[in-house]
Amino acid sequence: MADVFTPEKRSEIMSRIRSRSGLDRRVHAWLSRAGIRHRMWPRIVGNPDVALRGGTFVFLDSCFFHRCPLHYREPKSNRAYWRGHIRRNVERDRLRALLPYRWIRIWEHDVRGGRFREILLEAAGGG
Ligand SMILES: [Zn+2]
Repeated sequence: MADVFTPEKRSEIMSRIRSRSGLDRRVHAWLSRAGIRHRMWPRIVGNPDVALRGGTFVFLDSCFFHRCPLHYREPKSNRAYWRGHIRRNVERDRLRALLPYRWIRIWEHDVRGGRFREILLEAAGGG
């Protein structure tokens, strides 16, 4: 993507990417403190973000990139670019139905609002 974007555009994209990886960091930090065994970014088809003990995988989905039904807003600039990009993400998300393992989705808003903790505790088998 080096040459096709203006510096402003590139910095907008990078900030969105950074905010996404912030979800990973926050969830990883909490799982570690809670003593819940897990692995980040397991190498398995579908590219989930976390593997929990007990064999459940977790996708951490940004409200923007995965078009959250509650929080997605169309960006003001480069609409065609983002629309295509996000449509491809959402189509890929639908294919998760075919994955040969148990998985759950945690939205960015569940991470920001703190609800991800109960979701993960339940998914990890309650202790
Ligand atoms: Zn959301």
